[in-house]
Amino acid sequence: MTQTTYLRTALLPLSDLTPFPGNARRGNVGTILESLRRNGQYRSLIVRELPGGPLVVLAGNHTAEALNRHGAGDCSQTIGGKPCGVCANDPGWTPSARCEVVACDEDTARRVNLIDNRAAEKGSQDPDALAELLSFLDNDLTGSGYDDVDLERLLAPPPTLEELADTYAPPEGGTAALWPVLRLRVSPEQRDAFYDLTITCPDPNDDAARFQYLLDRARAAHPH
Ligand SMILES: [Zn+2]
Repeated sequence: MTQTTYLRTALLPLSDLTPFPGNARRGNVGTILESLRRNGQYRSLIVRELPGGPLVVLAGNHTAEALNRHGAGDCSQTIGGKPCGVCANDPGWTPSARCEVVACDEDTARRVNLIDNRAAEKGSQDPDALAELLSFLDNDLTGSGYDDVDLERLLAPPPTLEELADTYAPPEGGTAALWPVLRLRVSPEQRDAFYDLTITCPDPNDDAARFQYLLDRARAAHPH
């Protein structure tokens, strides 16, 4: 057997599950528990069944840990007026997880554990798409894994090294290096209008010269 074979999906008590020995991933259990409370367990754990042996968690070890941290019974927490997505505020809740039970050999079990941790970390996020998705959440980021500070950074990312180098470029023309730098986010129409209105600027390759030219024209049009 060289690949995983799906056996069944089952709700299993956490006490029946064994964490993957030597799991290298150090997940953020607090963030996962917040998500579980807000969103419920939206993804099954992947558990390897050994004939007559333990049920070993290949993927979802930190979800299991978060459910464990929640503990038995009613945690008495509600999220936005809704019951906890883990215990449903039921005093009789016993720590358990929905699991996809698979069979595979030892070597594949290790690979599944490794790739599951690695795949997310190797990918990246499109910041514009991310900001747009977060904007749909109506300022309540609970259970998204993001907080207000993350969102702020996303909307106004810190300057890149290149931008910093531009801003603090070594002086070429004396004190000009100490002048303020204007960075504006404008619509394509505004940008086009800026270049159209300054097309006759004597130094068209220098945006600062174009800006001065625009100011001169504005002053000439409205001398007072
Ligand atoms: Zn709860």
